[in-house]
Amino acid sequence: MFINGQWIEAKSGETREIINPFNQEMIAKVSEGNEEDTKEAIKAARTAFDEGEWSFIPANERGLIVQKIASLIRRDHEELAQLETLDTGKTLEESRADMEDIANVFSYYGGLADKNGGEVISSPLPHSQSRVVREPVGVCGQITPWNYPLLQASWKLAPALAAGNTLIMKPSEITPLTTIKVFELMEEAGVPKGVVNLVLGKGNTVGAELSSSTEVDLLSFTGGIETGKEIMRSASSNVKNIALELGGKNPNIVFADGDFDTAVDQALNAVFFHGGQVCSAGARLLVEESLHDKFVEALIEKAKRIKLGNGFDEGTQSGPLISAEHREKVESYVKIGKEEGATLALGGERPKAEELQNGFFYSPTIFTNCTSKMRIVQEEVFGPVLTVEKFSSKEEVVKLANDTIYGLAGAVWSNDITKAEYVANRLRVGTVWINDFHPYFAQAPWGGYKQSGIGRELGHTGLEEYTELKHIYRNTKPEPVGWFK
Ligand code: NAD
Repeated sequence: MFINGQWIEAKSGETREIINPFNQEMIAKVSEGNEEDTKEAIKAARTAFDEGEWSFIPANERGLIVQKIASLIRRDHEELAQLETLDTGKTLEESRADMEDIANVFSYYGGLADKNGGEVISSPLPHSQSRVVREPVGVCGQITPWNYPLLQASWKLAPALAAGNTLIMKPSEITPLTTIKVFELMEEAGVPKGVVNLVLGKGNTVGAELSSSTEVDLLSFTGGIETGKEIMRSASSNVKNIALELGGKNPNIVFADGDFDTAVDQALNAVFFHGGQVCSAGARLLVEESLHDKFVEALIEKAKRIKLGNGFDEGTQSGPLISAEHREKVESYVKIGKEEGATLALGGERPKAEELQNGFFYSPTIFTNCTSKMRIVQEEVFGPVLTVEKFSSKEEVVKLANDTIYGLAGAVWSNDITKAEYVANRLRVGTVWINDFHPYFAQAPWGGYKQSGIGRELGHTGLEEYTELKHIYRNTKPEPVGWFK
């Protein structure tokens, strides 16, 4: 763990084994921190913020340090990608793409650091000047999940640093390796002592301390909805700012007039990429009735051929799920789907291949004849499980797609741009893709409507989340008011 500029072990001396989900071998042993270590990290971040210079140095200097982190990530790109694949099981190709994106996030926020100014406003009062400035929020607690360990961390670290905050990060206890490495790179880039702190450990110890502490000013969390609610409750201790990036059950809407081959290919990618362990996975497919049978048939044929395997092997298209526990969750949803009367059209089991038996693999699974009231359609499975529903009009599909507690992302496929825009404008989600699925980048905001979260990461808004607005009013000709004679 990295606290107040020092690499240290947990005070309790406890450690945790990090497991490779492909073969269950131990990759590393890391410190397992607890509340005591977290308190120390919070104290370091508090002191660095209250007494240090980080928030007062010229913003472009902070920007240069954040840019330096980006260049160190580019330098160590391959090592980081390999670590991510070891830790998560995802393909090396995907991890390499993640590292590219992560470096871009640091570059983007490094560049924005000195473009985070406020504005001069026109005061309605005589002899006065008014300006609004953006200041850092203060000490930030940051909690990340296991599906995109370093990518999710970068969305929090880069803007928090660029805006002049200090922070304590807690990565998912099962995938901390790339985050540890990036803390080494932040140290190398010259981030001052106490500004960035890393505590490893569980959610209900380290995470709970971060979210309930009255010394933390902002808590940024990415993870599941139930944890998000728990964090909201604890964050009320001192009415801290919160940013929540929660789950999704994202509709992928295909009209009959879309480009068939592209829509099939992308529907597959939307849900089965990274074994469906993607918050924006297109796990809920809605196909126009006239196209439905042909589309589903083509999808099943392609899904059968998805090559599961070791993320390090050339030709592997998807790795294992993250853990035994998570696979059991996916399996329990498949059972629910069958009990609810959906038709299991593909998968619904662990793969039989000998070489996959030590990993937490699950076969691509497709349910047809689904209805929007089914739990398998409504709830986030976070695995390789697709549900398919039919619709017959644009009005109906908008209603169906919005009938969920989530609102993270969605897509619409049609060559009739008026129809596509009609749907895009009515989906209650934070990101809509027209004739595409999955693109996101540092420049555009990311986050959810409804129970998919609060606030936005990425884009300029992702930086503003790490700032407070202050109005500074100056009387240029002070004189007595004379109210109390
Ligand atoms: P999770 O909620 O179980 O855990 C996320 C993090 O919270 C972990 O670091 C965990 O240790 C910590 N945590 C657990 N209990 C806590 C508590 N009581 N207090 C504080 N921290 C606690 O989620 P997960 O299983 O790691 O990740 C999967 C979820 O993340 C999915 O629901 C997915 O949709 C969501 N996710 C959302 C986005 C997004 O951008 N909206 C991105 C990635 C993942």
